Amino acid sequence: MTKREMVCVSCPIGCAITVELDDSGEVISVSGNSCKRGDAYARQECTHPERMLTSTVRVEGGNLPVVPVKSATPVPKEMLFDCMKEINKVSLKAPVHFGDVVIENILGTGVNIIATNEIY
Ligand code: SF4
Repeated sequence: MTKREMVCVSCPIGCAITVELDDSGEVISVSGNSCKRGDAYARQECTHPERMLTSTVRVEGGNLPVVPVKSATPVPKEMLFDCMKEINKVSLKAPVHFGDVVIENILGTGVNIIATNEIY
């Protein structure tokens, strides 16, 4: 059995959570969380960690040279680096609107990368 300590990032309280895992990595118990969201966060973090992705994409002919982008939903943590490389390949032409899909279904994750600002 192994123990993992983590801080829940699901709200600003930041509960310190302890997860006990068996030898195959299955979650045996979660403690220290003050609510169910913490339990869900800890289990996901141990079995299938995900992160929101934020970056910027080049824009030609706009009032700014780049537009900030983010993943519409979290992507698997192990794919973050490859997703960043994919985003770095993209170049847009102005105008770009808030919410525009910059990359659809990035690397088959089912997650869209969207613009989070206006470039005109
Ligand atoms: S366990 Fe609940 S109360 Fe504690 S940080 Fe996570 S979401 Fe907030």
